[in-house]
Amino acid sequence: MAIRKPDPRQAALALLRDFESRFDPGTLPPVPVERIAESHLGLLVEEVDDVRALPGAPTDQGRLSGLLDPATKTIWLDRREAARSPGRRRFTIAHEIAHWVLHVPATTGARHEPGCRAGEVAEDDEGTARARGRRRLESEANAFARELLMPEVLVVAQASETGRNLPMLAERFDVSVPALRLRLLTLGLLPPWMAAAPVVDDDAGR
Ligand SMILES: [Zn+2]
Repeated sequence: MAIRKPDPRQAALALLRDFESRFDPGTLPPVPVERIAESHLGLLVEEVDDVRALPGAPTDQGRLSGLLDPATKTIWLDRREAARSPGRRRFTIAHEIAHWVLHVPATTGARHEPGCRAGEVAEDDEGTARARGRRRLESEANAFARELLMPEVLVVAQASETGRNLPMLAERFDVSVPALRLRLLTLGLLPPWMAAAPVVDDDAGR
């Protein structure tokens, strides 16, 4: 009998609803992703100079954006990357939350190996992970992160309210402009030609 795996987007919305039922999140957006990690899920968010220096972290995969340590319930973030872009920092937290929610339970088959490379924590999902299984888990984590930070119903409402003003929307959701633009595109809220528009914020896809 096939075990039905949770859809990453549905899982993100379920988490958000669960959080809202226990805490008063105030006015959304932005989604208080760090508070969800810490207060709701009991995950500690920490920054470190080099994630690869942590015990158990892979050292052969280049620089890591983040790492979830299930044993100590800690999300580790690359300090430099987090400082460079608050939106990027929030995306990596949401991505690591996804691994906690979707991949840590031992029933999913493919085990999530620790450490998420910058190209894998991809706001535009153009990462170049080699292993197919690993790529699937990273892609699920990114889909979850996008839904958590930019829930469809909020994006639709805010896009209409702001006249699809990308910088304003990115500020409201506290995400990078490229991440926000991709979200609008995939929701059919922007014409396709805007996919190629130049951006100031350069942190997508790293
Ligand atoms: Zn990951």
